Amino acid sequence: MTKLSYLHEPGVLQNLAARYELNEIYTYTGNILIAINPFQRLPHLYDTHMMEQYKGAGFGELSPHVFAVADVAYRAMINEGKSNSILVSGESGAGKTETTKMLMRYLAYLGGRSGIEGRTVEQQVLESNPVLEAFGNAKTVRNNNSSRFGKFVEIQFDKSGRISGAAIRTYLLERSRVCQVNSPERNYHCFYLLCAAPPEEIAKYKLENPKSFHYLNQSDCYELDGVDDADEYLATRRAMDIVGITEEEQDAIFRVVAAILHIGNIDFAKGEEIDSSVLKDEKSRFHLKMAAELLMCDAQGLEDALIKRVMVTPEEVITRTLDPGSAIVSRDGLAKTLYSRLFDWLVDKINVSIGQDPNSKSLIGVLDIYGFESFKCNSFEQFCINFTNEKLQQHFNQHVFKMEQEEYTKEEINWSYIEFVDNQDVLDLIEKKPGGIIALLDEACMFPKSTHETFAQKLYQTFTKNKRFIKPKLSRTNFTISHYAGEVTYQADQFLDKNKDYVVAEHQDLMNASKCSFVASLFPPLAVETSKASKFSSIGSRFKVQLQSLMETLSSTEPHYIRCVKPNNVLKPAIFENSNIIQQLRCGGVLEAIRISCAGYPTRRTFYEFLHRFSVLAPEYLEGNFDDKIACQKILDKMNLQGYQIGKNKVFLRAGQMAQLDAKRADVL
Ligand code: ADP
Ligand code: MG
Repeated sequence: MTKLSYLHEPGVLQNLAARYELNEIYTYTGNILIAINPFQRLPHLYDTHMMEQYKGAGFGELSPHVFAVADVAYRAMINEGKSNSILVSGESGAGKTETTKMLMRYLAYLGGRSGIEGRTVEQQVLESNPVLEAFGNAKTVRNNNSSRFGKFVEIQFDKSGRISGAAIRTYLLERSRVCQVNSPERNYHCFYLLCAAPPEEIAKYKLENPKSFHYLNQSDCYELDGVDDADEYLATRRAMDIVGITEEEQDAIFRVVAAILHIGNIDFAKGEEIDSSVLKDEKSRFHLKMAAELLMCDAQGLEDALIKRVMVTPEEVITRTLDPGSAIVSRDGLAKTLYSRLFDWLVDKINVSIGQDPNSKSLIGVLDIYGFESFKCNSFEQFCINFTNEKLQQHFNQHVFKMEQEEYTKEEINWSYIEFVDNQDVLDLIEKKPGGIIALLDEACMFPKSTHETFAQKLYQTFTKNKRFIKPKLSRTNFTISHYAGEVTYQADQFLDKNKDYVVAEHQDLMNASKCSFVASLFPPLAVETSKASKFSSIGSRFKVQLQSLMETLSSTEPHYIRCVKPNNVLKPAIFENSNIIQQLRCGGVLEAIRISCAGYPTRRTFYEFLHRFSVLAPEYLEGNFDDKIACQKILDKMNLQGYQIGKNKVFLRAGQMAQLDAKRADVL
């Protein structure tokens, strides 16, 4: 891309389109890799032969490829002993997860032990993908296999460059999907897989056709094109074996999954007293019994936990009943908590089983996280997702733009200033403490009388003068944030509920008393202080802390960026929608980055590093009493390079010049 003679949006687009037509889905712009989703299998592109080709090849020697990015990261880690990270971004369905899997496969190939069968670390790392996908992915409008959580995989290497451990961190699983799906989407894959299990397991888990379960039949989509749920069930079981989940644990996991389906079929009717409820019918009683059996808890206890609340005051113990509406909220709350704890358990288990290498000095992190979202209705989930993207965009900005410019300025080399949009102001609006949106939301959640209306009013008052905050004219509860990628209007309605993360004490006690140690372990007893103090814990604030820690990890690594692009919204091959794609390139900062890469100096080395590597090209200059800087200059002159610059401490090379020097060095060696 940086070699294009006319660099403007149409030129960039034309280039990408021409390449895409030839199934050249990867294109470099400087050090960023653009990957356009082919929406068709291109097996030759990822086979072992390809991996062999890219192993150790210089960056830019072969066609652009994800393997080349992984290879650069791996070499940099080995040569410089520094951790690297590969950040994969793009909108839903753009190909992030597929790209991440290819990266992991290639790293496992580089850092794996050939010929060893069985449960090696690298196999476990790879097989963690199907397990997490079965429980964390679902069909959405945008992607048939959409990840509903963010993921950062840290692959640890030992001194000799072998994979020695791995850690997976996940972010914000979408909880609402467990209880609520709309056509043509699906719930999490695992529910359908389990309903397609072999007959003896169906009997064991007391399952039926997925159409009979409320949590699944809200949508009329049950099957996925080209996917056989029965096969997927067996594949998931095999992957669970490899990552070290025992037979008993697997059994308990699927009992919980089945129990959630039964819980969803428990319905309520008005009881005799006001504001009370009873099980609606025999069918509800049947499913209650099934759920209790699977969870190994008392059926009456489960019924009570769903429809009654006990309040302990200094004077007495009051039992309050819930009306049918509240009982359903209680039921769904239990299902969501069970599911999200099950998911967290899986992640923890995989981490323990793969194991961490405490002696590992360097690692490669691979980030696969939801891209920017702007829908007709945007709620708390979109708010968190877009917050993440603002953070990552800032990281990208800082790296590509700020660092670049600061470095040029510091080194006093010629450089015409390129402007870029900084988004610190949006981040302040969202996360500043005190006074940012998350802080105000937490305040609202802790104050019993707050409603989404009072929360929205508070936002309007606080941010009247904020350029990034807009109050939509005709709304009393919506608010708009002007994100780096465009304006998004959020509906405040469910922000308070969705930000509150507490488990109803009755549910906690019941599950903790389960005779199944697995279920009980999902609900460990609360520490006394936390149960006494406010039961409220904020999802937004916790997410903010997680993100902060992710950003710290990323900052200590050398980043590589892959921008995935979704060429069309019909998810079909060979359709290239220009305006759609341009919008994605703008959101990803790709166009500015292209401008910078063209004008700038993508490679830089300190004089020492440069001489260390290239003095073989002109050993004569090491003999004399040359200053390092002058020696560098002499080598570059001797090699006939042009356009490079020499700063105060570093040599700055134009794109491609490092490769030229390396080639000459290889000749000499
Ligand atoms: P994201 O994680 O960005 O939401 P995915 O990685 O799940 O998107 O990709 C969505 C779908 O696009 C995949 O299920 C697959 O069908 C197709 N796809 C993505 N990348 C590739 C690729 N490199 N080769 C073939 N198909 C791909
Ligand atoms: Mg994904």
